[in-house]
Amino acid sequence: MCGIAGFVGTADIAPKLIRALKTLEYRGYDSAGIAVRTDAGTQRRRAVGKLAALDKVVADAPISGTCGIGHTRWATHGPATEPNAHPHTAHGVALVHNGIIENYSALKTELADAGARFESDTDTEVVAQLIAQNIAAGQVPRAAFASALDRLKGAFAFAALIDGAEGSIFVARRGSPLVIGISDGQISTASDTLALVGEADEVIYLEDGDWGEISLKNIALFGPNGEPVSRNAQPAPRSAAAADKGPYRHFMLKEIYEQPDALAHTIGHYLNPGSGALVLPDLPIAANDIRRIVLVACGTAAYAGMVAKYWLE
Ligand code: GLU
Repeated sequence: MCGIAGFVGTADIAPKLIRALKTLEYRGYDSAGIAVRTDAGTQRRRAVGKLAALDKVVADAPISGTCGIGHTRWATHGPATEPNAHPHTAHGVALVHNGIIENYSALKTELADAGARFESDTDTEVVAQLIAQNIAAGQVPRAAFASALDRLKGAFAFAALIDGAEGSIFVARRGSPLVIGISDGQISTASDTLALVGEADEVIYLEDGDWGEISLKNIALFGPNGEPVSRNAQPAPRSAAAADKGPYRHFMLKEIYEQPDALAHTIGHYLNPGSGALVLPDLPIAANDIRRIVLVACGTAAYAGMVAKYWLE
């Protein structure tokens, strides 16, 4: 799982993007990058390895602007190299992506036949090229983004900058999480609310299939069929404690020591504090009728799933 961050506001955005990406480090990544709208058009900086490497690239060649997107990549298509690092760009489009575009290969062939030139091995770049192709065909940025989404199979969260919609970030989620942050004078987006602690007063959790265009003036959200939708804003979390290693050397150690608390929180939800009795919710079906349980997980959660499989059996 990689990380996405995006901001549009009034302050210099590059340092904010890198700070937000740092809070998403726990998700794992192999390279990182940012794209910022500057007076000289959208510019990007990318680096393989830790965010410190990107920090250095940006320090050596600063980019200043008040609207931008950032990404920590965990490669699925193509090795961890700078050309494969996000944001991917194509003719005035800059895009970051979390997830996998399953039909990228067919789209890539189609786009290449139509003259598109690819610079990376990623599945992501086809999406930037698709949007650019729609713009070249005369669509306005919002329509170009929406028609590109219609062509995609797979799981994704996107944040994109498209020339012609200068103060906007285009967002979409299908299968991968994405939230929007709201505060006075700043709109933001990220894979996780932890990236928006201290940056947003309220957050909107996008629902699966949602997409939209967010700017300081407006948050326009749409459902999978293009119908306008409205999603409730909720108070943003005030603490990033969970995204901090605290006194521990690494996140795994922290998680091990957090187990008593994590279990207490989980069980506490079902505990009657007066009687001390555990009140479990009724199952919607009879346990004896269950023939098969499928646990789907990745990484450490997959190991936890294997333990659960053993217990359930
Ligand atoms: N599939 C994309 C890539 O390989 C995105 C991976 C990610 O979620 O970081 O670049």
